Amino acid sequence: MEDILKQNDLSVTGSRKKILGLFLAHSRALAHSDIERKTGEKFDRVTVYRTLQTFVQKGIIHTIPTADNSIRYALCKDNCSEGHHHDHHVHFVCTQCGNTYCLDGVVTPEIKFPRGYTFANIEVVAEGVCKNCK
Ligand SMILES: [Zn+2]
Ligand SMILES: [Zn+2]
Ligand SMILES: [Zn+2]
Repeated sequence: MEDILKQNDLSVTGSRKKILGLFLAHSRALAHSDIERKTGEKFDRVTVYRTLQTFVQKGIIHTIPTADNSIRYALCKDNCSEGHHHDHHVHFVCTQCGNTYCLDGVVTPEIKFPRGYTFANIEVVAEGVCKNCK
């Protein structure tokens, strides 16, 4: 885990280690509130927020938009680097447990856009029942 921080030129701090550990331990995406709850009293909101921002910048985690506007975060596995994310996979929101999962093997479909529209980014968030709730 410390290797991930060092590879990204980040000094190893308690909050970074703790928050990165949470992502490594969970297969689902985590909301800011999940992270706050799991880190308990140890780190304040600002520290958690800054750590998440740093991880997103460095290409360690990516954000997932959700219907209720609470951004979720998940570990990057697609060789993301600083300032460059390649997380072109579908995200799956389970309507039963409310968890969000990265479907790493499911690539975002290509869409043809009309003339004059320059494509930059597409987010696909699918809804349904996850394998744990089946
Ligand atoms: Zn990424
Ligand atoms: Zn579920
Ligand atoms: Zn993802």
